[in-house]
Amino acid sequence: MNSKCCRNSLGDEAKLAVAERARELGFSAVGFARVEDVDAEAAENYSKWISEHRHGDMAYLERYADIRSNPALLLEGASTVIVAAMNYYPRKRQRQDVPQFAFYAYGRDYHEVVRERLQKLGEFVKENFGGATRACVDTAPIRERYWAVRAGVGFIGKNSQLIIPNRGSFFFIGELLTTVGFEPDEPCSASCGDCTACIKACPGHAICSGKRIDARRCLSYLTIEHRGELPEEVNLGNHVYGCDECQLVCPHNRNAVPSDIPEFEPSEKFLALDREAILAMTPAEFSDIFRHSAVRRAKLEGLIRNARHIKT
Ligand code: SF4
Ligand code: SF4
Repeated sequence: MNSKCCRNSLGDEAKLAVAERARELGFSAVGFARVEDVDAEAAENYSKWISEHRHGDMAYLERYADIRSNPALLLEGASTVIVAAMNYYPRKRQRQDVPQFAFYAYGRDYHEVVRERLQKLGEFVKENFGGATRACVDTAPIRERYWAVRAGVGFIGKNSQLIIPNRGSFFFIGELLTTVGFEPDEPCSASCGDCTACIKACPGHAICSGKRIDARRCLSYLTIEHRGELPEEVNLGNHVYGCDECQLVCPHNRNAVPSDIPEFEPSEKFLALDREAILAMTPAEFSDIFRHSAVRRAKLEGLIRNARHIKT
C-alpha cells in the first residue's frame, strides 16, 4: 500500500487493516483506487488494439466495452477497487531440456486460488466496514493492469505486464470491488525508462509500441488460445504452454523471490514431463496431472499439437 496517502486519516487506518488481512491471506501488495471511468488514453489504446485485430481470435475481448470502461457496472454502488497481487514465482523449476510451461501454469489454477483468498478479503471488508463486495480474477471484463497502476501497485511495462518495481512481474492480480469508499492511493508513476530488453528477447517479435502485444505473434497466445493447427512458420522454440521470455529478461525480475503459496508448487508428475510423455499422454493422464490447472484451457489436443510443433 502506498503510505503517502492520508497517513493520519480514518481511511488510512482502515486501509492498513485491509492490507494486513491481505498479507495474512498471501497477497504481497495491495492498493486502493477510486472506481470511475478509465482515462481517455487507456480507452483509446484498447480500442486501437482491438481495431488493429492484434487480439487474434479472442473475440470475447471485443465485448462488454461499457464495463471495461467503468467497473461500477460489475457491482452496483461500487466505490473502490482494491487491487491485490499474489506472487507465483516458482521455487522448483522444470528441467531446461524439456518443453517449457509458463510459470503461472505450474501449480493449481490461479483463478481458483486467488478468487478464494480474495473472497476471504471481501468477507473481512464486509464484516469490518459493511457494504457489498465482488471479487474479480481475470474472468470479469475489468482492466486489471490499469487499475493496478491506479491503485499504486505497479506500472505496465513495454511487455504489457504489470511490474511491481524491484519485485517483478510474476504476480497474479485480483480486484475486489467494494461499495465502501476508501481513500485512493497515488497511482504508480514508475516506468521502463530506456530499457528494451523484452523487445529484443521476444521470440515472436510480438511487442509493439504503446505497451501492447500483437497476440497473433505471441507464443503465449499461440500455444494457449489459438485453435486449429499452428502456422508452419511459427517457431515455438521449446515453449509448449505459454512463454515467460519477456519477463525472464526484465531487470525488475532479477530479485524475484519464490512464492510461498503451496497451491502454486508444481507436482512431481508435472516436473517429470518430457516431450515424449506429452506426445503419448492419454486423457486420463492429462486429467490426473492437470485436474486443477490452468493448462486445461489448451486441452490435451492443444498440448499435443504444441509438443508436435516443437522442433527437436
Ligand atoms: S510471452 Fe513470449 S512471445 Fe509473447 S510477448 Fe512475451 S516474449 Fe514475446
Ligand atoms: S524488460 Fe525492460 S522494457 Fe521490458 S518490461 Fe522490463 S523494464 Fe520494461
